[in-house]
Amino acid sequence: MSLRIYGEPLVITDSGGKDSLVYREIARRAGIPYEVVHNLTTADAPETVYYVRDTFKRLEEQGIRCWFHKPIYKGKPVTMWSLIPQKKFPPTRLQRYCCQVLKEESLKDRFITTGVRWAESLKRKNNRGIFENFTTDKSKKIILNNDNDEKRMLFEACTIKGKRICNPIIDWQDRDVWDYIRSERLPFNPLYENGFFRVGCLGCPMAGKRRYREFRLYPTYKRAYFRAFEKMLEIIRKEQIPTGWKDAQAVFDWWMEEETPEGQMQLFDFDSWKKENPDILT
Ligand code: SF4
Repeated sequence: MSLRIYGEPLVITDSGGKDSLVYREIARRAGIPYEVVHNLTTADAPETVYYVRDTFKRLEEQGIRCWFHKPIYKGKPVTMWSLIPQKKFPPTRLQRYCCQVLKEESLKDRFITTGVRWAESLKRKNNRGIFENFTTDKSKKIILNNDNDEKRMLFEACTIKGKRICNPIIDWQDRDVWDYIRSERLPFNPLYENGFFRVGCLGCPMAGKRRYREFRLYPTYKRAYFRAFEKMLEIIRKEQIPTGWKDAQAVFDWWMEEETPEGQMQLFDFDSWKKENPDILT
C-alpha cells in the first residue's frame, strides 16, 4: 500500500525501544521494502542513541536506508530545551506537546509503522487500530483487521496522500514482546538490563516519580531541564505573565508532582470559607 499510494517504502519509526525492535524485525522477515527513522527528541538517554546508531549501521550494511529526523518548530530547529521556554510551561501528562513537536510532526506524507499497543492504555484500546487514516470522517479513521470489507477498501483504495499509520503489534502483550525478542535472540537496548521498563525521553512526565531515579543516574539531564525552566521563567517575567513559580526549583517541584509547592494556588473548602467570610458574599 505504501508503494502504491506514496510511491515510497513503508517507514519504520524506531525509538530504540523493545516494541520498535519487534516490528522492525517483522518488516525484515516479511521481505517488504522499508526505511527506518529515529526522531531525535534530544532527551533520549545516551545508551539509546548509541544503540540506535549501532542498529542503523548494521541495517545500512544490508542496504536499508536509515536516518535521524531533526525536529523543526515554527520553521526553526528545536530541542526539548528550547521548546519548553517557547511553550512557557513544562510538558505534563495531559499536555505532551513535546511528543507532538519532537516526534509526531515528522513524516507527514508517508505511510509509517509504530509500536502502539492496546496493552499500554485503555485510551489506546478505544482510539487506535491496526491501520489509521488521517481523515475528517472519524468513522473511517481507525481500521481494525476484522473491519468489514467496505471500510477496508475505502482506506486501502484511497489515493489521497497524508500520513497513514500501521500498528502491526497493536494486540501484543508485554509478555509477547519479550518472548519474541528472547526466542529470536534480538539485540535490545541495554537500558532494559539496567532496571528501565521504558526507554523514552529522560524526564518524560509519563514516568511519574520514576524520574527521580532517572535524574540520579543522569544529572546532566536534570541540569538541562533546570536551565530550560530558568529560560522559561525569564520569558514569563519579561512578558509579565502572572505566575506562582518563583524560581526553577519551584517549577521542578510542581513538574515532579510534589504536594503543593510554594506559590502554588490551592483549591479550598468553599463552605468553610463562606462561614469565615459571611460579609463578602452579601
Ligand atoms: S518526554 Fe515523553 S511525552 Fe515528551 S517527547 Fe519524550 S516521550 Fe514524548
